[in-house]
Amino acid sequence: MRALTEGQLLQEWESCAGRRPVVRAVALAAVAGGHTFAEASDLPLGTRDALLVDLRTACFPGDLECLARCPGCGEDLEVSVPVSDLRQPAAQEYEATLALGGMRVRYRVLTSRDVLAVAPSDPDARCRLVRRCVLDVSGGPAPEELAAEVVEAVAAALSEVDPQADIRLDLTCAVCGHAWAAPFDVPAHVWADVDACARGLLAEVHALAKAYGWREEDILALSPARRHFYLEAIGA
Ligand SMILES: [Zn+2]
Repeated sequence: MRALTEGQLLQEWESCAGRRPVVRAVALAAVAGGHTFAEASDLPLGTRDALLVDLRTACFPGDLECLARCPGCGEDLEVSVPVSDLRQPAAQEYEATLALGGMRVRYRVLTSRDVLAVAPSDPDARCRLVRRCVLDVSGGPAPEELAAEVVEAVAAALSEVDPQADIRLDLTCAVCGHAWAAPFDVPAHVWADVDACARGLLAEVHALAKAYGWREEDILALSPARRHFYLEAIGA
């Protein structure tokens, strides 16, 4: 995968700013994989997130630096995450069956289209989301009437079928020694990198435009090396 050009990065940042996290994730995965937005919406969540990890590797080489709060003592820990820790096997099967008591629940992996269909403000969002991926139930009620514990069992099974969609980091607190598996939000971290990079570029444009009166498109057309020369020259 090739890195985004500065122009692509700014375009994605501009069109995704203020949108729901799932919209940002799909838009970036679409660019990364050469898909339309609709095609990327139908990818299993793990396949989408693998594209985001690849995009991140291509655009911003190096570990991810993030903060994690220890559930044991509340200390905020600085964590450096190698990108290789974020790769899991891709889903091999898009459908699976879960046997629960006398019930057999056939389900499929979740896609961003499912996430887009559920309002985040819905207090029942998690249940609605999981029920969307239930294809049929034999020996039990209709998918929309499944009990909460069955929904939770399907949710747990989903991360086994599509492990790339549920990244967890094994962390140990340096202060109290507590060890835990911290969920890691791949799309949020990739977006944070895109956001920081776009804001950095615009700050460079601002400094040069102010100093020389150049237009934005002319500043962005300069190679990074030339731009940095001028930025140094004005002491920015
Ligand atoms: Zn701790």
